[in-house]
Amino acid sequence: MPSFKPLAGHCQCGSVRFQVTAVPRELYHCHCSMCRRCHGTVFATYATVDRAHLIVEKGEANLARFDSSPPVHRFFCKTCGCQMFIDDDARPDIRYFTPGTIDWPDHAEVPVPARHIFVGSKVPWFEIGDGLPQATVV
Ligand SMILES: [Zn+2]
Ligand SMILES: [Zn+2]
Repeated sequence: MPSFKPLAGHCQCGSVRFQVTAVPRELYHCHCSMCRRCHGTVFATYATVDRAHLIVEKGEANLARFDSSPPVHRFFCKTCGCQMFIDDDARPDIRYFTPGTIDWPDHAEVPVPARHIFVGSKVPWFEIGDGLPQATVV
């Protein structure tokens, strides 16, 4: 198996920096109302990776936690408000991270399957046009 060049990510202000040291498992665009409101966006994008392969290099203490829907814990930068990680107690093997925080120059594409989820909660005026699979819930 070819070696994986780690992904490097950080929040907008740079207080929190992390690395993803293995190929992410999956990527999804979540249209649920909790993601929309926590991010202030039409949908939120997350990728998952084995927990041991998400390394917070800097600023762990600068992460605030918000439990929008237990057992889901959302982590964001206390300084700039950037949404960064989700831990789900129901899936202790993985961690979710926001791929929008990654520096992508060395990675042309995300090497994982991607899909839209919770499209039943999608804002009505936004049309999904990327051809990815869509799920009403997960
Ligand atoms: Zn920040
Ligand atoms: Zn969501």
